[in-house]
Amino acid sequence: MSEKPKAVYLGENDIPRAWYNVLPDLPRPLDPPLHPVTKGPVGPDDLAPLFPMGLIQQEVSLERYIEIPEEVRDVYKIWRPTPLIRATRWERALQTPARIYYKYEGASPAGSHKPNTAVAQAYYNKVEGVRKLTTETGAGQWGSALAMGCRFFGLELQVFMVRSSYAQKPYRRVLMETWGAKVVPSPSDLTQAGRKILEDSPDTPGSLGIAISEAIEMALQADDVKYSLGSVLNHVLLHQTVIGLEAKRAFELIDDYPDMVIGCVGGGSNFGGIALPFVKEKLEGRDIRLIAVEPTSCPTLTRGRYEYDYGDIAGMTPLLLMYTLGHDFIPPASHAGGLRYHGDSPIISLLVREGIMEARAYNQLEVFEAAVDFARAEGFVPAPETAHAVKAAMEEALKCRESGEPRCILFNFSGHGYLDLAAYDEYLAGRLSDV
Ligand SMILES: *Cc1c(COP(=O)(O)O)cnc(C)c1O
Repeated sequence: MSEKPKAVYLGENDIPRAWYNVLPDLPRPLDPPLHPVTKGPVGPDDLAPLFPMGLIQQEVSLERYIEIPEEVRDVYKIWRPTPLIRATRWERALQTPARIYYKYEGASPAGSHKPNTAVAQAYYNKVEGVRKLTTETGAGQWGSALAMGCRFFGLELQVFMVRSSYAQKPYRRVLMETWGAKVVPSPSDLTQAGRKILEDSPDTPGSLGIAISEAIEMALQADDVKYSLGSVLNHVLLHQTVIGLEAKRAFELIDDYPDMVIGCVGGGSNFGGIALPFVKEKLEGRDIRLIAVEPTSCPTLTRGRYEYDYGDIAGMTPLLLMYTLGHDFIPPASHAGGLRYHGDSPIISLLVREGIMEARAYNQLEVFEAAVDFARAEGFVPAPETAHAVKAAMEEALKCRESGEPRCILFNFSGHGYLDLAAYDEYLAGRLSDV
């Protein structure tokens, strides 16, 4: 198989013209979100104060393909199609007969897959007359992606950034501000939810759940202000399917096909993006494994409960049926690898529940070790989140070394780690430990 190319660069015409919607292909329908107070099913009208109708419709659509607006596709052209690169040097270093490919989503201006949905969300808000968006961000990947999307479509953006990250990771705040967004540490005194938490626990490091409560509270205060979520929801995974669709097209061109598709999971969007376009073929009998990877310190899919839970700490969001560690879960501060959300996408949760996807968890030391091994062979330094997928790809490649089977491994390189070098510094200096 050594005649396969090192990298596949598709052309602009290969940027998908439609996103793939997995909802009509699921083995059973998703259970509806429930209203946070009445606990009845949530309808479009309940979501209208938070999201534009265009996105609400996508959330429940049963159309298999949803056209990508030209305005969004035009922005995608800045960095899409992203390359599908074969990790030949790493294969040799690992002495594996496996073929390892990664889809390099680090190519976007924000350095991750997140602009794929940020740009689309900004667009749908803009065409419905929204003036300003609010959102939360952890280490700042989502905030920076949305800051860019909002800038491109002329929207204001208020970002609530988890306090511990705001203090420890200044560079993405600078990136957000460079693209014109306003950023405050969360909990903040801009909202009731924030003020209450500051009063009760003034030293809290903050959490995504708290920041979501703040962003939602602010969005509910005006008609032309809406809220935006960077993962978990169906429309977010929908927008991310450009990753898997492009990967399939690239594999067609080189006449190869993955035996397994691997992605790290925080809320499930980059893994869904690369894996969902393969679900239909899997359900039709194709032998392909879809592997979700998470940290042992936030083991939502591997150790969470499958039940209805809130998306935020204050219980303001609709309840979603998903794997969850409980909406008041806050991961240990010594965890450096991201992927800290307490819940997971209902789509991914259902597919794991039904045995169509599998999930595994790794400790942070082995994850950084794999990432450094990858970087020394291939050059690119993965984001700590991405490093979880790198670790799983490595484990599978080493299994192939044992068995002699030349499997084809695809993993999503969800983002680069050049703004997370502080975490690598901790690891290289021996200051990281397993949590
Ligand atoms: C945000 C992020 C993730 C985790 O979010 P998902 O919605 O699960 O994809 C993973 N990798 C990178 C680089 C990220 O920025």
